[in-house]
Amino acid sequence: MKTGDASCTRRTYRWRRGSFPLVAVTLALFPLCSAQTPTNSLVLEGAMLIVGSGRPPLSNAVLIIEEGRIRAVGKLGAMRYPEGAEIVNLRGKTIMPTLINLHGHLGQTRDGFNEAPDGFTPENVRDQLAKYLAYGVGTVVSLGTDQDSVYELRDEQRAGELPGARLYTAGRGFGVKGGFPPGGPPKVKGAVDRYRPQTPEQARADVRELATHKPDFVKIWVDDGFGRMPKIEPEIYRAIIEEAHQQGLRVVAHVFYLQDAKGLVQAGVDGLAHSIRDQAVDAELISSMKARGVFLIPTLVREESTFAYADSLRWLDDPLFQAGLEFSVLTALKSPAFVNKSRANPDLPKLRAAFEMANRNLKTLAQAGVKIGFGTDSGPPLRFQGFFEHRELQLMVESGLTPMQAIVAATRTGAEILGASSEFGTLAPGKQADFLVLDGDPLEDIHKTEELSAIWQRGKRLPPITAH
Ligand SMILES: [Zn+2]
Repeated sequence: MKTGDASCTRRTYRWRRGSFPLVAVTLALFPLCSAQTPTNSLVLEGAMLIVGSGRPPLSNAVLIIEEGRIRAVGKLGAMRYPEGAEIVNLRGKTIMPTLINLHGHLGQTRDGFNEAPDGFTPENVRDQLAKYLAYGVGTVVSLGTDQDSVYELRDEQRAGELPGARLYTAGRGFGVKGGFPPGGPPKVKGAVDRYRPQTPEQARADVRELATHKPDFVKIWVDDGFGRMPKIEPEIYRAIIEEAHQQGLRVVAHVFYLQDAKGLVQAGVDGLAHSIRDQAVDAELISSMKARGVFLIPTLVREESTFAYADSLRWLDDPLFQAGLEFSVLTALKSPAFVNKSRANPDLPKLRAAFEMANRNLKTLAQAGVKIGFGTDSGPPLRFQGFFEHRELQLMVESGLTPMQAIVAATRTGAEILGASSEFGTLAPGKQADFLVLDGDPLEDIHKTEELSAIWQRGKRLPPITAH
């Protein structure tokens, strides 16, 4: 097929690599550049198709795309092609929907390593959305750390003017004074802190203020940092949840402890944005989550990243990981100073135990039939956007889910949670033509999602992030 058009405007990104031109990264950004016009019919034939619904894959599949949407799905030899359609041979490849990250963050860092207190700029957010998409993440929910300018960016995107991964936002989330989320007000002029209400009345007023922006979720942090910080009081989070529901908004909560998860579910929370990490989940939590349809976003890779840099990390040599990095960051991650600092963290044993518990609890909850979404908590320093989503899939499988279960969490279930199933999340007639083309079969080995051949967004082919 045609792989680009000399007349199109191509924006080239190069992550700086010091004096070592190890890897250059090129992102051709929608909608400036495309491989073909979406008004033409396009037939992709011969790939194995993972629909995202959980049904067994379709081999020798045919996907017909028109005007950015899937028109028909079928079997090679049994389909009538539209006249004049461009035919793309994808024999040997696998197609699956783009990933939906229900828990990410934007504008927290510029290089992935250092915090950027002034990082929530349109340029940085735009770059990060492009990066997510170049890694195959088609949708990201930015969960509670945005500045109010996020709503303009979301509007721009809905008007077709902001390329990259689809942006959903919880705007500014709810924490507690002197506690989670740590850090307090940003030290940058004009930037605003999360809400930190001290009474239920103030909490309700804050939710009403937030609701004027029409956020996609409300975020609450319920944690005490291993007992070192104050935790938001139940009467405050109950007021937030109740008022949010009155405003027609859904609430997701950062949790760590089983008791807090129970309290939140009892109070009507809609989703848990992390795994329960202090002890094994029990029948009481399972039955209440199921009865109320509360979903879980496991974020296993976030837990792994809290101690992984102290270990001999295999990620660091993964070409997909390196593709999104400045060379100086790779050097810093490998430096004895950084590794020694990571090893000196007195919380390491607790953090490793929390990761193990998160894994165990994910398997228990999934087996019990609790709704499992997909999210990584990528975006803050040392939690690398794009790569972390592939690593999360691997960890979900290591925890005992099948590759299909992990993929369904990251596709169909994510779209269901976003109320967007009619638009994306699965590959069926009428849906947006958003999918990954992979060189290998991730149902056989989940690591094969890393073998990105192309990314398609609304019927347009984009190059994946590549090391070359
Ligand atoms: Zn987060």
